[in-house]
Amino acid sequence: MLALVLHGFGNAAVEEVPDPVPGPGEVVIDVTCVQPSVTECMLLAGEPIAMHQVLAARLAAGPTRFGGHEFAGVISAAGPPIPTNPPSGEKSDKSWRGVPDLSCQPGDLVTAVETAACGRCAACRRDRPDACPAPSVLGFTGPGAFAERVVVPARTVVRVPDGVSAAQAAAVQPLAGAIHGHAVAAVRPGDTVLIIGAGVMGLLHTRVARLGNAGQIIVTGRSAAKLELARRAGADLVLDATREDVVARVLEATEGIGADVVFECAGEFEQAARGVRRGGTIVMVSVLPNHAPAPLALLRERSVALLHPRSGAGGYAPGSSVFEHALRLVRRGDVELQGLISHRLKGIEALPEALEITRYKHRYGALGPAQVELA
Ligand SMILES: [Zn+2]
Repeated sequence: MLALVLHGFGNAAVEEVPDPVPGPGEVVIDVTCVQPSVTECMLLAGEPIAMHQVLAARLAAGPTRFGGHEFAGVISAAGPPIPTNPPSGEKSDKSWRGVPDLSCQPGDLVTAVETAACGRCAACRRDRPDACPAPSVLGFTGPGAFAERVVVPARTVVRVPDGVSAAQAAAVQPLAGAIHGHAVAAVRPGDTVLIIGAGVMGLLHTRVARLGNAGQIIVTGRSAAKLELARRAGADLVLDATREDVVARVLEATEGIGADVVFECAGEFEQAARGVRRGGTIVMVSVLPNHAPAPLALLRERSVALLHPRSGAGGYAPGSSVFEHALRLVRRGDVELQGLISHRLKGIEALPEALEITRYKHRYGALGPAQVELA
């Protein structure tokens, strides 16, 4: 089959690779539609964000496959069932768990949760999968869906309901992340929510906040067109960060208090720290450099809670129940994903172009990631 192979940072090509073989409890999915995430684009280009060292070490050993976790496809084959006895070499059956039968069948349109706890370590055995030190992350710890076919654990598969297209399903992972982020932040009824950034993550957070408990929703951005989308997604107040003093306007809109919850989606952490109220919460959505500056004294003095949405590279993604909920919201029309898909390319050979467009969205007038349609 054809797949994207990385030869060095900034040097990826679509090449022939061996077909994937499903192991016990795994399924093969023929990829129908895939889109790169901005994080993947940054890592493939060699930017020093989380996971960079891991990828650099792999590249030092030779060409490698990397990326491809936002996708949809059709199940084409299943591996053998998971043995009920421990695999050879394991003495105790305490650490060996089977998984339930697959709820999807060959021919079903599906997507998959990108992160799966190992199910066997001390943390997993104690029902703390979020503490698993060695989860598998699709495209990061093994080959992902930048390929004609991908193998995933059957337990991570989520069926796409009728009425939701492969393109929408491929774009559902960021929505699941936004839903999860709001759950992590525990937004209370009537809370003022400040969303910094009106890109895809900012817009999805706006929509999820409007569907949830938020009271006043304030969105900042740098493009009039995107701020108009934020308004349509449910923002009460939109602020043009190129012309307005965002922190002053937030304080004005909250009677000098500041926002209860801030979702930082644009790398403007200082703005988040100054726009949040005393005792408020900042959810760090954007991917920051490893040593990003932060006003720690201010955060300490004002008792600000910093939370992470547990999604994306090196983190822990929302589980299948969140994905199912996200797909339900799309099917019902509560969240409109189609409008975020501005660029659609045909054929797996277009993957390098999709990476380029997604990394430099502003140059290409792209709103969301560029999608590649394989089938
Ligand atoms: Zn584990």
